[in-house]
Amino acid sequence: MTDSTKRNRKKGRLFVLSGPSGVGKGTLRQHALNNVPNLKYSISCTTRKPRDGETDGVEYRFISHGKFKEDIAGNLFLEYAHVHEDFYGTLKADVVNELEKGNDVLLEIDVQGALQVKQKMPDAVLIFVAPPGIEELKRRLTGRHTENDKSINVRLNNALKELELKDKYDYVIVNDDLDSACEELRKLIL
Ligand code: ADP
Ligand code: 5GP
Repeated sequence: MTDSTKRNRKKGRLFVLSGPSGVGKGTLRQHALNNVPNLKYSISCTTRKPRDGETDGVEYRFISHGKFKEDIAGNLFLEYAHVHEDFYGTLKADVVNELEKGNDVLLEIDVQGALQVKQKMPDAVLIFVAPPGIEELKRRLTGRHTENDKSINVRLNNALKELELKDKYDYVIVNDDLDSACEELRKLIL
């Protein structure tokens, strides 16, 4: 792309995906990234320990509590929050650079973070992914085999609080049939 094409290209749009743990956000996100051109994912920072199979810089940037605090003090985060048992945050520079290049950006963050983003960037499109029911959410969370019982209970308790905030979002997608939910998200972004 030449410099003048870049200058003439419109700024990208910011999409924020939230919803309870285990509802299928990661699955929907991956489908959108594979099927929507010029859509970039912003890799968050977290103090959580990597799960088996997770790689630093791919799913997250896994950083220490000390580094997280430094980055807060340095005003590097567009938003950050304490979620479940750890800190998570989105680096401002990553998002702004991609939007300036004309790419759309997708964040997958919790409700506290999403509301911070909406305050700072009112044009951001907030999308809440809801489960068809709490029992099904529990089945998905348990079936993923990534959390212990304590962590599953923390996540289920938080799910109820998160669901109460879904009306603050611009759109709600119920992830019942996976293909339909993927298609709904793809169309919404396009
Ligand atoms: P999240 O990122 O919201 O924590 P995941 O994308 O990891 O959730 O999904 C949790 C589990 O539920 C995964 O095992 C995934 O394959 C499964 N899953 C996602 N969407 C559906 C769906 N519509 N129906 C049944 N299982 C689903
Ligand atoms: P997990 O530990 O299952 O990967 O993610 C736990 C929760 O943290 C999910 O609700 C996820 O959306 C949220 N999360 C991930 N990254 C960020 C982030 O950068 N900021 C905020 N506020 N939440 C995040």
